[in-house]
Amino acid sequence: MVKDLIILGAPGAGKGTLSADLCPLLKIKHISTGDLLREVVESGSALGQEIGGYIKTGALVPDEVIGRMIKEQLNTAECRNGVLLDGFPRTPPQAEMLENILADLQRRITAVFFLNIEQEQVVNRLIHRVSCRKCGKPYHLINLPPKKSGICDDCGGDLIQREDDREETIRKRFATFLEKTQPLIDFYDRKKLLLPINAGNNPQETLRIALADLEALLNNIK
Ligand SMILES: [Zn+2]
Repeated sequence: MVKDLIILGAPGAGKGTLSADLCPLLKIKHISTGDLLREVVESGSALGQEIGGYIKTGALVPDEVIGRMIKEQLNTAECRNGVLLDGFPRTPPQAEMLENILADLQRRITAVFFLNIEQEQVVNRLIHRVSCRKCGKPYHLINLPPKKSGICDDCGGDLIQREDDREETIRKRFATFLEKTQPLIDFYDRKKLLLPINAGNNPQETLRIALADLEALLNNIK
């Protein structure tokens, strides 16, 4: 059975980790819209040039163009077994467009994972992240601290915190995410496709819950 999945979650909820764990197990392709946009632009294809034109002028890439890009990708051999979409759709109109694209391909959304996490937990996860100014090596001050405080183990460079990982910025991004994503969460909840997953656990536990919930949903549908 083809599995076309979506993953939603605030920055810091662990979307990247769960996606990396889940996709090989389900033999499906992870499609991060941001990465795909960059790849398509770099490929220099007709679609890539069109998208590049929007990006260059700082304009938003229109939904219809993103839709064509996703459709092209869904048609490739690597997406035959299914995909895990990350970063698309972001709005109910985009979700409706995705339904039409999938219907054209005789496919449909199987499930939507929503990694649910408390704001305080995101703050605690991200606020301790630092990286080397020189070589970029990432550290976590609690879980993966450097040997010498403030200094990179590998190259001796200074460890710095990204603007994105400052507490105030984290709280702002979290609030914006919830506000923007709530309509989409409601959309998929009404369609009985939403799988809310408590993302406050360790990655192994999150993966186990995601797989169990997906199986339960699939069994209910049958
Ligand atoms: Zn370094």
